[in-house]
Amino acid sequence: MSLGEFSVIEQFFSRPVSPEILGVGDDAARLSLPPNTDLVCCKDLLVEGRHFFPNVDPFRLGHKSLAVNLSDLAALGATPLACLLGVGLPRVDSAWLEAFTNGFYHLADQWHCPLIGGDTVSSAHGITISVTALGFLPKDQPGLRRDCAKAGDDLWVSGDLGAADVALKVLSGELDVPSEIFESIRSCLEQPEPRVALGRALLPLAHAAIDISDGLVQDLQHLLKASHCGAVLDWDSLPVHPSINALNRQGILDDETIKSAVLRGGDVYELCFTAPSQHRQSILALGNQLPIALSRIGTVSGQSGLSLRSANGESIVLAGGGFDHFNRLNTHD
Ligand code: ADP
Ligand code: MG
Repeated sequence: MSLGEFSVIEQFFSRPVSPEILGVGDDAARLSLPPNTDLVCCKDLLVEGRHFFPNVDPFRLGHKSLAVNLSDLAALGATPLACLLGVGLPRVDSAWLEAFTNGFYHLADQWHCPLIGGDTVSSAHGITISVTALGFLPKDQPGLRRDCAKAGDDLWVSGDLGAADVALKVLSGELDVPSEIFESIRSCLEQPEPRVALGRALLPLAHAAIDISDGLVQDLQHLLKASHCGAVLDWDSLPVHPSINALNRQGILDDETIKSAVLRGGDVYELCFTAPSQHRQSILALGNQLPIALSRIGTVSGQSGLSLRSANGESIVLAGGGFDHFNRLNTHD
C-alpha cells in the first residue's frame, strides 16, 4: 500500500533540527534571527516538463531545488538560515522521494540551512516543487543589490559559461555530442553549485550583483537598467566552459551556437557582479582562496545599452533576450 500524506511527511520531511527551532510538525515554524540582522527571503518554483525532465535523477533534482534558491540568497550576499519545501506529487514513489530528499538535505547540510516546514499535496499533472529560502544580512549592510552599480566599475562573473545551455540542447534532442563530453557538462545543468560563500565574501568589495539564471545578457541588463547604467563586455574575457571550447575545436559546435550559449544560455547559477577597480587584487585573491574562478569581463559605463567588443576592437550592440516564460521568441527587451 502506498504511503499517505502524513506518513510521507514523517518519513521524508521530518529530520530533526536544532532544539531552539520549532520545525516540521506544528502548524508553523518558528526560529530566531541572529542579533542585528534583517530577514532575506526568496522562492523559486520548479515544474516538471518546464524546469526538469520527468526522468531526471531525483538526487540531482533535490539538490537543484534548493540550489536555485540559495543562489538567489547568494546574489544578495545573504547567509542562509532555513528553508521550506512545497511539493505536488502525482504519486508516492518512496525510492524517488528518498533520493530527492537525500540530494536536498545534502546541500542543506552543506550550507547549514535546515528544512523547517512545507506542504505536501497530490498533483494531477506532474511534479511541482516550490522552495522558500530564508537568510539574513546585517542590519547596517545594504547587500548586493541590483541597483547599485556605478559607471567605471569592473564587471565580473564567477565560474564558466555555456555548459548548461549545451547540456539542455543535448537532452532535448537538438544537439548530439560525444557522451564523455556530455557527462562533463551535464552537472552544470542538473546539479549547479550556489555561490553562497562568494556572495557573502563580496559584501565589502562589490557594488551590485545578480545571479544569471536567465542568461548573462538578460540578467546583466536587469542589473544595468536598475542602476541606470550601461556596459561593454569583452568577448575574449568571457569564461567559456572548457568542454564547450573542445566541441568548437572538434567542429561539433559552431561559433554562433557557442556565442548564444555563453551570452544567452539560462540555468546558470553564477554571480555577475560589479566592483570598483581598486578592489581588483582583493577579488582575484578571493577567487584563489575560495577557490572559484572569477573573470573580469567588462566595464560599466554611464551611457545606457550593452555592447560586446571582440578582439579586433569591433563592437556590437546586444539586444535583450534570454529565457522568458511568457515570450518564447526571446525578442523582448
Ligand atoms: P497544515 O495542514 O497545518 O498545513 P500539514 O499537515 O500540511 O500542516 O503539515 C504538517 C507539518 O509538516 C507542518 O509542520 C509542515 O510545515 C510540515 N510539512 C508538510 N510538508 C512538508 C514538506 N514537503 N517539507 C517540509 N515540511 C513539510
Ligand atoms: Mg497542509
